[in-house]
Amino acid sequence: MAQIIDGKAVSADVKEEVAAEAAQLKEEHGLKVGLAVVIVGNDPASKVYVNNKKKACEAVGFKSFEYALDENTTQEQLLDLVNVLNRDETVNGILVQLPLPKHIDEKAIINAISPDKDVDAFHPVNVGKIMIGEYSFLPCTPAGVMRLIESTGVDITGKQCVVIGRSNIVGKPQAMLLLQKNGTVTVCHSKTKNLKEICLSADILVVAIGRAKFITGDMIKEGAVVIDVGMDRNENGKLCGDVDFESAEKKAGYITPVPGGVGPMTIAMLMKNTLTAAKQQAGIE
Ligand code: NAP
Repeated sequence: MAQIIDGKAVSADVKEEVAAEAAQLKEEHGLKVGLAVVIVGNDPASKVYVNNKKKACEAVGFKSFEYALDENTTQEQLLDLVNVLNRDETVNGILVQLPLPKHIDEKAIINAISPDKDVDAFHPVNVGKIMIGEYSFLPCTPAGVMRLIESTGVDITGKQCVVIGRSNIVGKPQAMLLLQKNGTVTVCHSKTKNLKEICLSADILVVAIGRAKFITGDMIKEGAVVIDVGMDRNENGKLCGDVDFESAEKKAGYITPVPGGVGPMTIAMLMKNTLTAAKQQAGIE
């Protein structure tokens, strides 16, 4: 039976570290870290995420600036706001909650955020830095996954790592981070043949597909570290992951639950990135 990786506990550790450093920044440099969160429209899930980010800011001693814009906000209006926030010295990090309404080009907005304040690490400059291993910010979800793997004590070096999913926000950067830690990385996607076979080779399996309970116990190598990024709904509308937890925990050595695994890590890593941004902008390292 697998050991459960407790994302709530690990994320609490990260937030505690961030809060301690934020308090030190305030005391020694008179700096209050600030994160601006912009939401456009009324998507209920986005509202929950934004609210959680606001709460996390309060918990670590950051100032949060919330901009809740009307569904009909134009791309130009949003770009104007991003430019104002880019120049605002009290704002260290800018997060524009995705998805945006269809009439707004997400790429144009992401590209307008100053790379120094891009705490989601979605800007092409930051994506490029991750490729060459010289990054300031790591994308929050993959960075959270790395911290969860680290918490197991399993050394990634030389391990067969399989990432399922190749999105720009999870799968691709995840593969890069595992590679940087000397894993032997395979990336799978919807066109992959022999998925089961490849999964069975994985010492470390990171699943980010978006399909409820898609990965089952018979696809998991005995003793593997299984990280489930998925946030799906089961047949009863309850939150579940991409991994069928019940069958997978019988095979895995370590496994993340959903909820309570990767989810809490994403916000904790966002706080960490915002702290890094504040320190860099103040010339403190
Ligand atoms: P996405 O952009 O939809 O990408 C899904 C990926 O899965 C694609 O690369 C797709 O392949 C691949 N895929 C789909 N069906 C497949 C199949 N049958 N076999 C193998 N691969 C398959 O999704 P995402 O944004 O990466 O998110 C993935 C999941 O993680 C979602 O459930 C999302 O809600 C969750 N998520 C959670 C957090 C968190 O904080 N916990 C953060 C972000 C995302 P193709 O490229 O070939 O289409």
